[in-house]
Amino acid sequence: MPLSIRRDDLLPGRNFIGRWCEAQLGRRFDVADPATDTVFASVPDSGEDDARAALEAAHAAFTAWRAVPARQRAQILKRWNDLIVAHQEDLGRLISREQGKPLAEGRGEVAYAASYVEWFAEEATRANGDVIPAPVVGRRMFALKEPVGVVAAITPWNFPAAMIARKIAPALAAGCTVVCKPAEDTPLTSLALVKLAEEAGVPPGVLNIVTASRERAAEVVDVWLDDPRVRKISFTGSTPVGKHLARRSADTLKKLSLELGGNAPFIVFDDADIDAAVEGLMAAKFRNGGQTCVSPNRVYVQAGVHDTFADKLAERVAALKVGPASDAGSQIGPMINARAVDKIERHVRDAVDRGARILVGGQRLPAVGRNYFAPTVLIGADTTMACACEETFGPVVPVTRFETEAEVVAAANATPYGLAAYFYSRDVKRIWRVAEALEAGLVGINEGALAAEAAPFGGVKESGYGREGSIHGLDEYMHLKYLCQGQL
Ligand code: ADP
Repeated sequence: MPLSIRRDDLLPGRNFIGRWCEAQLGRRFDVADPATDTVFASVPDSGEDDARAALEAAHAAFTAWRAVPARQRAQILKRWNDLIVAHQEDLGRLISREQGKPLAEGRGEVAYAASYVEWFAEEATRANGDVIPAPVVGRRMFALKEPVGVVAAITPWNFPAAMIARKIAPALAAGCTVVCKPAEDTPLTSLALVKLAEEAGVPPGVLNIVTASRERAAEVVDVWLDDPRVRKISFTGSTPVGKHLARRSADTLKKLSLELGGNAPFIVFDDADIDAAVEGLMAAKFRNGGQTCVSPNRVYVQAGVHDTFADKLAERVAALKVGPASDAGSQIGPMINARAVDKIERHVRDAVDRGARILVGGQRLPAVGRNYFAPTVLIGADTTMACACEETFGPVVPVTRFETEAEVVAAANATPYGLAAYFYSRDVKRIWRVAEALEAGLVGINEGALAAEAAPFGGVKESGYGREGSIHGLDEYMHLKYLCQGQL
């Protein structure tokens, strides 16, 4: 089996609450391989007792962990990074097995996840405060950065390693302790990462993880939302769930980082390098089969280059190889589950019913498997179509023709979301005009691959708030305490 792993103990199959343990009621749920739609593992189906136990452990560990010198916390994180890198092959296979992405992407995600751990290991030692010039004689004023307390991290399935690393590494670096509930579709990678964190020397109680089925996700998370000892929620997932978390945590006024849905525009102007734009779109759109929150969801091409661009794009998309991650040549894997394929199919049907034309693809691929959808290019898309308003989260590119810059900027911004946006142009004045006019947290200018641990990642509008990565990422897990000493 090409996706088998060498270290079986990276599959503990249990919760970690100071030690590896079953759910208190002994329930478990199945994990399926999206490539074959067959069950291949199971993990605890936790409930409120497990959530509470994890919280108690994290709360009890906080005082000691925040007192550990930053350099020592950094050394533990560096060891965690080294272990993740050393297990890149096993972790990459695990990601591909439970999430479905091609193995090269699974390995790439491990490197990307590790880059956040390394980054925050370094940032841990730089949580400097301020010495503030006092306005009067006899006083000294300081601002200290302190860890906020217990953090609840709730992660999605599309990047099972990177999302864990991006939340847990800064939390631990800041001196916070963590309770985590990973996505039900991909719990195994997160458990493997926690296993490596344990080996790296993260003390018991500092990092706790409980798995739960979709049916019990709310039961677990509600315990954390309602308890005043949880001081921070870090969530990546859908906008409706993000809004629910914000509402329910309002009673205890927790700090929140919400990285929610997107509806990214990708704009190609007449003055763009068309080949570079096609290349950038392929990279941005088809990574993880389009199941990426920064994935372009709407493609706008100016009239003068529309047909050339569409032809070149169609040729590239038609050549993509679809198949399981275990096939070395696969470029597009299965979608995560049947629900995801149903949504993609609904979007394509709706677009065609409303007048779009399929240039490539447009259908399921039952001969490959139940969860596969053909990479698709649609032309003649417009704003009335579901694929323009909702995140399709699949390998579908709806292309819309436009005439003017003002028209396309208005169209790009006509969405409640604001995570990523992309555009291609060689006009330097236009580049600054459009970059500043787009309502998005991340803008790719002549570039389709944006994410990097050193860059701030996050959205505006209903794509959420807070930033992950970069020199700003640590502040999300800290608060400022002002000290004023008088009588000097
Ligand atoms: P998706 O539709 O991509 O699965 P979700 O926002 O539904 O995105 O899921 C992201 C994460 O949020 C997962 O870990 C999931 O279990 C969790 N989740 C889903 N519903 C709830 C809820 N009502 N309360 C708390 N967590 C939830």
